[in-house]
Amino acid sequence: MKRILLAFLVLFLLPLHPAEATPVQGYLNWSVLMCKFADRPGEPRDRLFFEELFTPVGAGQRGLHDFIASQSRGRATTGGTVVKGWFTMPYTWQQSKEAPRAERIDQCVRTVRAAGYTPPPEHRIAVMLNAGDIDSGAYGTAFLLDAHGWNSAWAVHEAMHTLGVGHGFSDDLTLKRYDWSQPGEYDDHWDVMSVDHIHHSRWSDKFGQGAIGFNAPRLDEVGWLPQNRVLTAGKDGQVTTSVQLAPIERQDLPGTLMVRVPYDVKNLNR
Ligand SMILES: [Zn+2]
Repeated sequence: MKRILLAFLVLFLLPLHPAEATPVQGYLNWSVLMCKFADRPGEPRDRLFFEELFTPVGAGQRGLHDFIASQSRGRATTGGTVVKGWFTMPYTWQQSKEAPRAERIDQCVRTVRAAGYTPPPEHRIAVMLNAGDIDSGAYGTAFLLDAHGWNSAWAVHEAMHTLGVGHGFSDDLTLKRYDWSQPGEYDDHWDVMSVDHIHHSRWSDKFGQGAIGFNAPRLDEVGWLPQNRVLTAGKDGQVTTSVQLAPIERQDLPGTLMVRVPYDVKNLNR
């Protein structure tokens, strides 16, 4: 029993590496719920805006659908995502502001359920709030965007959190971006998972701040990188070699897309 427990603990403590990461493939379905505050009747955007931001209705406008379709090279799609709203919550802006994020999300979900729409169990939740200065962020398999977060970069970043994808890091241990962040967190300028500290591409006038793609390790983590174009240094016994790299965004060009340099000779994925 003790040995089994020890084996379990060792397994549990091993860090995740890309070979163990869960592939993100197929239909990625969110129920996008548009909720208004009891004291804020405005509808700054209509349902079509959010359908274009999140679903194939907006194909070509560089929202979440285009990000997933292009970064996954067709391995995943937001094709099953639905948008519902507007719904008026029995909560004011101030009541939402003062609630913890999980409750803030649930206020909208409860309202929508009471109005007759129950999100299917396989759906993740996306809550859109009709005013700003509240909160944009993720909680488990749900995320919310207030009216200041309705742009491609934030939508992609938070949606990816609900698929289990974490933040980007640099090796600059002197950088501490927020009170809650770890050294180097949010500091990979070439990965949308550092959302407010990245090289933005202004992909769309409609969706404002554009989302830069994933970096190579991130593409590998979610299973969006062809493994026959990943080179693991030392795997063939060679001590030195030269490699021609292809741009990560130009996979039509020949060459290796990522070089993995292992630090553990017993596990070349680490
Ligand atoms: Zn985040």
